[in-house]
Amino acid sequence: MALSVSTSSTSAISGSSFSRAGGNHNELRAAPRIGSFRLLDRVQAASVALNVSQRRSLVKPVNAEPKRNDSIVRSAATIVAPEVEEKVDVKVEDYDQLAKDLDGASPLHIMDKALEKFGDDIAIAFSGAEDVALIEYAKLTGRPFRVFSLDTGRLNPETYQFFDAVEKHYDIHIEYMFPDAVEVQALVRNKGLFSFYEDGHQECCRVRKVRPLRRALKGLRAWITGQRKDQSPGTRSEVPVVQVDPVFEGMYGGVGSLVKWNPLANVEGQVVWSFLRAMNVPINSLHTKGYVSIGCEPCTRPVLPGQHEREGRWWWEDAKAKECGLHKGNLKQEAGVNGNGSAHANGSADLFDTKDLVTLSRPGIENLLKLENRKESWLVVCYAPWCPFCQAMEASYIELAEKLAGSGVKVGKFNADGDQKEFAKQHLQLGSFPTILFFPKHSSKPIKYPSEKRDVDSLMTFVNALR
Ligand code: SF4
Repeated sequence: MALSVSTSSTSAISGSSFSRAGGNHNELRAAPRIGSFRLLDRVQAASVALNVSQRRSLVKPVNAEPKRNDSIVRSAATIVAPEVEEKVDVKVEDYDQLAKDLDGASPLHIMDKALEKFGDDIAIAFSGAEDVALIEYAKLTGRPFRVFSLDTGRLNPETYQFFDAVEKHYDIHIEYMFPDAVEVQALVRNKGLFSFYEDGHQECCRVRKVRPLRRALKGLRAWITGQRKDQSPGTRSEVPVVQVDPVFEGMYGGVGSLVKWNPLANVEGQVVWSFLRAMNVPINSLHTKGYVSIGCEPCTRPVLPGQHEREGRWWWEDAKAKECGLHKGNLKQEAGVNGNGSAHANGSADLFDTKDLVTLSRPGIENLLKLENRKESWLVVCYAPWCPFCQAMEASYIELAEKLAGSGVKVGKFNADGDQKEFAKQHLQLGSFPTILFFPKHSSKPIKYPSEKRDVDSLMTFVNALR
């Protein structure tokens, strides 16, 4: 079915999008799938009037990833300007206000609004649990929609069977995101298959969940989650129905380039279950075995009657901070006596923890500022452990440190929070966290990284331009 499409160029989060008439779920079968996107598609699509298939070929698949880069933003070489004149509609949306306006709205209404606004540039994040309700609501809107899921490689067999059942029930293809094989291999070879029981779940979740999620979101302008306030009193009690994503970046890059919709934020678990039963929606059979919240097999267990659902996740860890990194923005800074964030929100004490990165003390960074000739150049991030933007760049910065190891550029970090903040403002050009500085080999004056794009490629380009 051809769609009437009026395209619009938008700023990162402008609130405008293309509108469409019609659309059904069979069209989703024709949507770009993993590995299906080809340069040829774009070239062919550019020269004639827009219709459905051409519009889809101008939209990136959620999973297309160049090498090991986190970005799936199309490269300049693949962008072909359509011959149809585009209407520029720069309307900036106030998402705080929109969240207030929609706070009493039904999940169906919120879902409809989300799909209407973002079209093909939004996707439902499906965990394989009761958030199948999101897919049901999306279907009820009558609009086309996309669904992606993170296959960590550690899910229960029941969850894989459930994915299959959902695909068949809705006649959709779930766009699965997989972890980087080399990273998983390194983790398992170094630390074994169950390292999370000994040193916490963050590292494994970062490799198997957060990085694949980051790649998926880089192909979108918005995503839809099944977060509910009642899921976790410690971390989700203030989840709004829509927000500018406080942690992840969307396809246009930079802070604020992604919108996060949580249509179930105000819905209680019981109500979701009533809805699923009423609509005769397939469910994960683990639910019939006592599981409520469902994640990876080694990190999820059934809960007893009366136990909170999140008690079944990472039960060996702090009960208040059970986020896997997918919704880090829910975690708040806890102010210490001197204004320092007292802890990295997901329970660890610090950020950027890798052997390839040097932790600089105050004398260490003062030394860097004094030296006019050093053996190597340095790249240093001035950060605060509680800062969500620092947390958001953690994976990229660690990956960068790994890439630069032994290359003649040292990578360091300096905790510039608390007592160090004034010093950092005066001598390290600290305006806000994070501030990234390059110390050239033959100069004591550091050069500040000017961009908010903190992916590996952007940072590497900066380093290579100055080294
Ligand atoms: Fe790894 Fe457990 Fe996190 Fe799954 S939930 S990615 S197995 S730590």
